Amino acid sequence: MSKVDHSDKRRKRAPGLATLGVRAGQERSEQMEHSEAIYPTSSFVFRSAAEAAARFSGEQPGNIYSRFTNPTVRMFEQRLAAMEGGETCIATASGMSAVLATCMTQLVQGDHIVAAHGLFGTTTQLFNNYLSRFGVDVSYAHATDLDSWRAAIEPGRTRMLFLETPTNPLIEIADIPALAELAHEYDCLLVVDNCFCTPVLQRPLELGADLVIHSATKYLDGQGRCVGGAVVGDATRVGEDIYGFLRTAGPTMSPFNAWVFLKGLETLSVRMQAHCRNAQQLAEWLATQPTVSTVHYPGLSTHPQHALAAAQQSGFGGILSFELAGGQQAAWALIDQLELISITANLGDTKSTITHPATTTHGRLTPEAREEAGIVPGLVRISVGLEDVPDLQADLQQGFDALS
Ligand SMILES: *Cc1c(COP(=O)(O)O)cnc(C)c1O
Repeated sequence: MSKVDHSDKRRKRAPGLATLGVRAGQERSEQMEHSEAIYPTSSFVFRSAAEAAARFSGEQPGNIYSRFTNPTVRMFEQRLAAMEGGETCIATASGMSAVLATCMTQLVQGDHIVAAHGLFGTTTQLFNNYLSRFGVDVSYAHATDLDSWRAAIEPGRTRMLFLETPTNPLIEIADIPALAELAHEYDCLLVVDNCFCTPVLQRPLELGADLVIHSATKYLDGQGRCVGGAVVGDATRVGEDIYGFLRTAGPTMSPFNAWVFLKGLETLSVRMQAHCRNAQQLAEWLATQPTVSTVHYPGLSTHPQHALAAAQQSGFGGILSFELAGGQQAAWALIDQLELISITANLGDTKSTITHPATTTHGRLTPEAREEAGIVPGLVRISVGLEDVPDLQADLQQGFDALS
């Protein structure tokens, strides 16, 4: 926080999440700007050769070069770290570079990852097609089945359990405390991609995870403008390892994007509550539709992990999926009929978006892997935005009418 608090009396309450989102991490310049400043500069000037040397050696903290030190980026990192309850945060150019930086720094040749089926498709591609070239291999477990995680672990070789919860696109809930215990029993790291919930709805570090990954592209921005990512965790793994990777390899967040994400964090708390409310209403309505065979949303009492979601999350999230009995043909016909909801793979936007996972985000998986992950041809995913729910219902209704 920017203001120094000299009064013991005023310090008794730790700030809540909405307050952190608005206030944490700001560093005000001598211009006394109220909104955070953008520093679009590639390098910083030293007052002397000795100061330059001290900065480079790490003896003196401060800005050097925007590949690894930029004040706007640092404000975003400090704010997100405060919201996730982590010691520190490193921002990255994208969510994928956050996953890559984590793997490159926490794994070595010969190590093994156990990951959940139904990860974000590109994460699966990164594991299968790229890490595999460097002698890191991956096995997959069912996110919700602790025994399948245990069975996939190779004691002494497995170094990381990696998951998203809720999963994409089936919105299943993995038990973070149970998986943290399992990971630590085998001396593994538990890495949670907290993209769907954000720290407003779920704080994985408090539940026992070691590292949290974000695609800031999604809810942290929340308005579909910029691509970015972050890793949150302890001072060694994130503050040294991942910082060192960023400094050396360079998948850096730009100051402008960091500023957009900072502004996004200020409204994250209210936006997430509104996304949850709208998704709950839409899920309940979808469940009454005759053409819909199944609705996947943890806020429905019929969801298999409804109780776990209620315990682990403070809201059920803004993303749902549903199955049409008519398979791919029905799914495509519905999507093509829509006028309001956008056909785009992005999620976590104020604008509602719809996708057909089997032929887009998960289209590069083999048919067997898709089957294993439960991504059937009739599955449709909606990221429920902040429009009026009756308008979303009307848009879907005319699509359903056209199917029958
Ligand atoms: C989008 C996404 C990513 C990748 O993030 P980018 O910012 O697109 O690189 C990773 N994980 C999840 C769950 C995502 O939805």
